[in-house]
Amino acid sequence: MPKIKRLCVYCGSSSGRQPDYSIAAGQLARAMVRKNIDLVYGGASIGIMGEIADAVLKEGGNVIGIIPKDLFVKEVVHTGLTELREVASMHERKLLMAELSDGFVALPGGFGTFEEILEIITWSQLGMHQKPCGLLNVRRYYDRLIDFLDHAVSERFIKKIHRSIVLIEECPDALLAKFETYKAPEAVKWIDQKSA
Ligand code: AMP
Repeated sequence: MPKIKRLCVYCGSSSGRQPDYSIAAGQLARAMVRKNIDLVYGGASIGIMGEIADAVLKEGGNVIGIIPKDLFVKEVVHTGLTELREVASMHERKLLMAELSDGFVALPGGFGTFEEILEIITWSQLGMHQKPCGLLNVRRYYDRLIDFLDHAVSERFIKKIHRSIVLIEECPDALLAKFETYKAPEAVKWIDQKSA
């Protein structure tokens, strides 16, 4: 896998109940700037989203925010980013985030975060991209989702080879190290229907 130059981070528009979630956003931001990796994210100033953007900027890194026009109230948009791109819809936003980025990480978050990371994993499973996708499992926030993915494998709705798309680590440096050596599985879902 080529070097990661831009990383897309999906994360909560809330800060969550534990300070560790914000602390992890700061740690990921510092790890990214140390490695010269720019941030691509949803462009908001609130919650973990705002925290990771602020932390990357504070360390001197670049942040590209992508926000759907008119969908969010103006107060929510981060006005201090390196670059803010306005798009027409949530679908356009997710496509542009995917195109601009060399890898995808989910920090803790809610429905929006789940939907974004699971969609990009699905796109990988379909062979639409070969970029690394992972969960930063802060305070083991994603343990139950990980258990559920394993349940889906044992119930034969997800193949083991596709389960391996989801990289998981508790520490940002370890996750980024996995991203750097990641190789996407060759078995894409739609040419593998016979064994389904
Ligand atoms: P959630 O995890 O439900 O808080 O949603 C966060 C994710 O959904 C982010 O990665 C964003 O891309 C998107 N999102 C949700 N709410 C907002 C918001 N108010 N402003 C910008 N993006 C949002």
